[in-house]
Amino acid sequence: MTTWDPEQVREACRAHGVQWEDNKPMALLTTYAVGGTARLAVTVRTSDDMQRLATALSACGDIPLVVLGRGSNTLFADAGFDGVVVIVGSSEESKSITCVGDVVSAAGAMLMPVLARRSVQAGRGGLEWCVGIPGTVGGAVRMNAGGHGAEMDDSLLSARVLSLRSGATHVVPKSALGLHFRGSALSAHHIVMSAEFSTSAQDVQKGTAELDNIVAWRREHQPGGRNAGSVFVNPAPGSGSAGALIDAAGLRGFTSGGAHVSEKHANFIQATETATASDIIAVMDHVQNVVREQTGTVLRSEVRLVGFSDNIAQQFADAQHDAPQFVAARQSLCSLLGEM
Ligand SMILES: Cc1cc2nc3c(=O)[nH]c(=O)nc-3n(C[C@H](O)[C@H](O)[C@H](O)COP(=O)(O)OP(=O)(O)OC[C@H]3O[C@@H](n4cnc5c(N)ncnc54)[C@H](O)[C@@H]3O)c2cc1C
Repeated sequence: MTTWDPEQVREACRAHGVQWEDNKPMALLTTYAVGGTARLAVTVRTSDDMQRLATALSACGDIPLVVLGRGSNTLFADAGFDGVVVIVGSSEESKSITCVGDVVSAAGAMLMPVLARRSVQAGRGGLEWCVGIPGTVGGAVRMNAGGHGAEMDDSLLSARVLSLRSGATHVVPKSALGLHFRGSALSAHHIVMSAEFSTSAQDVQKGTAELDNIVAWRREHQPGGRNAGSVFVNPAPGSGSAGALIDAAGLRGFTSGGAHVSEKHANFIQATETATASDIIAVMDHVQNVVREQTGTVLRSEVRLVGFSDNIAQQFADAQHDAPQFVAARQSLCSLLGEM
């Protein structure tokens, strides 16, 4: 665990006009709506906010950091996070897209459904699938989010990335972002400020019908309420989807405290109003054990776990992110951003 000095960070923030909050509750900033506080939290909305924060933090050495978008793929521990949470908040910039020829640009804080709808309204096709992802553009780039037969990797051209470690900003081409299944070469200290997508000309009515289809499909097949979408990453092709394995193990409805496996979609874990992060972890633990006993497959978490013990982090960590090619991609991205 990184040792750090919160007072040093506060001092650096003061020196650069960055406002912070101490012990900020994180629950309502995530779709699970559970979990504790962040030791320090800074909300950045504009490029200037981000740059000032980077200048402040880059003088503070190795700090435990988490960048938070809409929190739709993040679970904070009940004990909270002993580090700095950088909340990428909305601004005027994140409400509209820019279209130049076939290229659509959007801020990192823009919500994916807004990106989909604005693109369709502008007569651009290719980003309709984004309407089903309740997160931000920045979170979706980091996760290489996808659905309905498409993913970020298909349309992304580049992302403007800021390093909170070096203070440098770079327009990173997709080829240097190391996108892979539900992951990328981006690290905890990188902020996706904006992204550019390749699109094609499309009739607005056709695009609108596609949006409606996707929204209807989601309503029919996925539960509403408090969840973070699919919890476990699909295992290697040929082993069946994570949801199918959980379903076959008879785990729909399995409950621990205020959390349960969704009856509607076996790879979703629902949190009730009384749920804690520990309840969700208890359900994940049980699901992982039963599926391993029955099939030999060890399910790993797609949801980012923040503030948990090393044991829990390791139990659910997705080892594919540490494959040599992805480690190399992370290192070369850090180097591109002037961190080494
Ligand atoms: C109902 C539901 C359905 C879902 N369906 C899908 C689906 O079909 N496909 C899919 O892929 N996902 C799905 N998700 C998961 C989630 O919406 C996506 O992973 C989304 O891209 C996360 O975006 P976010 O802004 O909420 O990220 P967060 O949860 O805030 O963060 C996720 C990760 O991205 C990083 N991050 C966030 N913002 C930035 C930024 N600006 N710069 C750099 N890093 C950043 C965080 O540090 C973290 O590592 C679903 C979630 C829900 C609740």
